[in-house]
Amino acid sequence: MSKYCRTCGAEIEDNAVFCDECGTRQEMQQPSKNMPTKRQMNDTDIYTENKIKQSGFGIASFVFGIISIITLGVFYFPEIIGIVFGIVGIKDKSKKHGMAKAGLIMSIVSTIILILLFVIVLV
Ligand SMILES: [Zn+2]
Repeated sequence: MSKYCRTCGAEIEDNAVFCDECGTRQEMQQPSKNMPTKRQMNDTDIYTENKIKQSGFGIASFVFGIISIITLGVFYFPEIIGIVFGIVGIKDKSKKHGMAKAGLIMSIVSTIILILLFVIVLV
Protein backbone atom coordinates (compact mmCIF):
# COMPACT_ATOMS: atom_id res chain seq x y z
CA MET A 1 0.00 0.00 0.00
CA SER A 2 1.22 3.46 -0.83
CA LYS A 3 -0.08 6.96 -0.17
CA TYR A 4 0.16 10.29 -1.89
CA CYS A 5 1.97 13.52 -1.02
CA ARG A 6 -0.31 16.10 0.50
CA THR A 7 1.36 18.90 -1.45
CA CYS A 8 2.25 17.60 -4.93
CA GLY A 9 0.22 14.38 -5.07
CA ALA A 10 3.21 12.19 -5.92
CA GLU A 11 3.00 8.52 -4.89
CA ILE A 12 5.21 7.96 -1.82
CA GLU A 13 6.03 5.16 0.62
CA ASP A 14 3.65 4.61 3.53
CA ASN A 15 6.39 5.21 6.06
CA ALA A 16 8.10 8.03 4.13
CA VAL A 17 8.75 11.10 6.27
CA PHE A 18 9.48 13.39 3.32
CA CYS A 19 8.07 13.42 -0.22
CA ASP A 20 10.61 12.22 -2.80
CA GLU A 21 9.28 14.69 -5.37
CA CYS A 22 8.86 17.99 -3.49
CA GLY A 23 10.37 17.29 -0.07
CA THR A 24 7.22 18.17 1.89
CA ARG A 25 7.19 16.63 5.34
CA GLN A 26 4.53 13.89 5.59
CA GLU A 27 3.27 14.06 9.14
CA MET A 28 2.69 10.36 9.70
CA GLN A 29 1.61 10.53 13.33
CA GLN A 30 -1.01 13.21 12.88
CA PRO A 31 -4.02 10.95 12.15
CA SER A 32 -3.45 8.82 15.27
CA LYS A 33 -2.80 11.95 17.35
CA ASN A 34 -5.91 13.67 16.04
CA MET A 35 -8.33 10.84 16.76
CA PRO A 36 -8.23 10.99 20.58
CA THR A 37 -8.41 14.78 20.43
CA LYS A 38 -11.50 14.60 18.23
CA ARG A 39 -13.07 12.06 20.58
CA GLN A 40 -12.31 14.27 23.56
CA MET A 41 -13.91 17.23 21.81
CA ASN A 42 -17.03 15.20 21.03
CA ASP A 43 -17.28 14.09 24.66
CA THR A 44 -16.95 17.71 25.74
CA ASP A 45 -19.67 18.74 23.27
CA ILE A 46 -22.04 16.06 24.54
CA TYR A 47 -21.21 16.95 28.14
CA THR A 48 -21.78 20.66 27.50
CA GLU A 49 -25.04 19.92 25.67
CA ASN A 50 -26.34 17.80 28.54
CA LYS A 51 -25.25 20.40 31.05
CA ILE A 52 -27.16 23.11 29.19
CA LYS A 53 -30.28 20.98 28.86
CA GLN A 54 -30.30 19.95 32.52
CA SER A 55 -29.37 23.28 34.07
CA GLY A 56 -31.14 26.58 34.36
CA PHE A 57 -34.70 27.60 35.06
CA GLY A 58 -36.13 24.07 34.91
CA ILE A 59 -33.94 22.83 37.77
CA ALA A 60 -34.46 26.08 39.71
CA SER A 61 -38.21 25.74 39.28
CA PHE A 62 -38.08 22.07 40.32
CA VAL A 63 -36.02 22.87 43.45
CA PHE A 64 -38.26 25.78 44.48
CA GLY A 65 -41.31 23.63 43.69
CA ILE A 66 -40.07 20.98 46.12
CA ILE A 67 -39.27 23.64 48.76
CA SER A 68 -42.72 25.21 48.38
CA ILE A 69 -44.43 21.79 48.73
CA ILE A 70 -42.37 20.94 51.85
CA THR A 71 -43.12 24.34 53.42
CA LEU A 72 -46.80 24.15 52.30
CA GLY A 73 -46.27 27.50 50.59
CA VAL A 74 -46.13 29.46 53.85
CA PHE A 75 -43.01 31.40 52.81
CA TYR A 76 -44.66 32.72 49.60
CA PHE A 77 -41.40 33.22 47.69
CA PRO A 78 -40.52 29.55 46.87
CA GLU A 79 -43.75 29.00 44.92
CA ILE A 80 -43.56 32.45 43.29
CA ILE A 81 -39.98 31.73 42.13
CA GLY A 82 -41.04 28.18 41.19
CA ILE A 83 -43.91 29.48 39.02
CA VAL A 84 -41.80 32.23 37.37
CA PHE A 85 -38.84 29.90 36.65
CA GLY A 86 -41.23 27.15 35.56
CA ILE A 87 -42.90 29.44 32.97
CA VAL A 88 -39.51 30.72 31.76
CA GLY A 89 -38.20 27.13 31.58
CA ILE A 90 -41.21 25.89 29.58
CA LYS A 91 -41.01 28.85 27.17
CA ASP A 92 -37.35 28.04 26.41
CA LYS A 93 -37.89 25.56 23.57
CA SER A 94 -34.16 24.81 23.14
CA LYS A 95 -34.06 22.95 26.46
CA LYS A 96 -35.91 20.06 28.05
CA HIS A 97 -38.75 21.42 30.15
CA GLY A 98 -39.84 18.33 32.06
CA MET A 99 -38.36 19.69 35.29
CA ALA A 100 -39.78 23.15 34.61
CA LYS A 101 -43.25 21.61 34.19
CA ALA A 102 -42.85 19.58 37.40
CA GLY A 103 -41.59 22.67 39.24
CA LEU A 104 -44.48 24.77 37.92
CA ILE A 105 -47.07 22.13 38.92
CA MET A 106 -45.57 21.75 42.43
CA SER A 107 -45.46 25.52 42.87
CA ILE A 108 -49.10 25.88 41.78
CA VAL A 109 -50.16 22.97 44.04
CA SER A 110 -48.39 24.55 47.04
CA THR A 111 -50.05 27.89 46.23
CA ILE A 112 -53.44 26.11 46.26
CA ILE A 113 -52.49 24.44 49.58
CA LEU A 114 -51.59 27.86 50.98
CA ILE A 115 -54.90 29.36 49.79
CA LEU A 116 -56.79 26.39 51.32
CA LEU A 117 -54.90 26.87 54.62
CA PHE A 118 -55.91 30.54 54.61
CA VAL A 119 -59.53 29.63 53.91
CA ILE A 120 -59.50 27.00 56.71
CA VAL A 121 -57.96 29.50 59.17
CA LEU A 122 -60.32 32.34 58.22
CA VAL A 123 -63.54 30.30 58.11
ZN1 LIG B 1 5.40 16.08 -2.79
